[in-house]
Amino acid sequence: MRLITLNRTKPNASIEFYGCPMQCKYCSHTAAAFKDYTLDTVINVLSDNGIRSVFVGGAEPALHSKEASVLVRTLHSRGKEIVLKTTGWDPDFIIATKGSVNRYVLEVKTPLDDAKGYSALTSLDEAKAREQLDKVKRTMELLKGQKVRATLRIIPGFYDAEKVERIAKDLEGYVDELHLTQFMSTPNDIAYSGILSPAPEQDVMMELAKAARKHLPRVKIKGIGFDETV
Ligand code: SF4
Repeated sequence: MRLITLNRTKPNASIEFYGCPMQCKYCSHTAAAFKDYTLDTVINVLSDNGIRSVFVGGAEPALHSKEASVLVRTLHSRGKEIVLKTTGWDPDFIIATKGSVNRYVLEVKTPLDDAKGYSALTSLDEAKAREQLDKVKRTMELLKGQKVRATLRIIPGFYDAEKVERIAKDLEGYVDELHLTQFMSTPNDIAYSGILSPAPEQDVMMELAKAARKHLPRVKIKGIGFDETV
């Protein structure tokens, strides 16, 4: 298993899988170093009695579907609370993990009918972006009734209130909360498209949150100096 991080902090541990098919140019995970671990090693480390919850993230854990699904099921059977992040890349991975995950985190980028926008934000061409959005839709259907948080990085110039509202409308009935994260406010972001510092400002983020809130029960904005729920 290729991992960027294996964080055994108690009580909330986390791991980050290496590799993501989207290869977004603004994502630090695309350039991150990784270390190889055996599945048994990771299971043993995370089975520690002092660990209560494990966040399984990345990049895209579904790229390691076989090992990641065994890991999730084993840790869950040992009483760990599992939070699993995905971009929706592999709906079969959702089927393999369902019942062993306490909360899914779905990384979204565009409305489901905006393959052109998805392609602009990733390294996928438009046809592949359309396939990916079909998989996201299937993933959402599979996750219906589960606890799901959607996350959206707000890259200035790519989002306005109308687009965020369309994304929220697609998510309505499928997710219980949406987190909007200010671009460059976490170490996960690399300077991109001339944006060198955290943006947009809090008031712009709040406008976007209000647009999303028309369709979703809970919307959070997070950035440098603010963390608010609408
Ligand atoms: S931003 Fe998300 S979808 Fe893009 S490369 Fe990073 S983990 Fe993958």
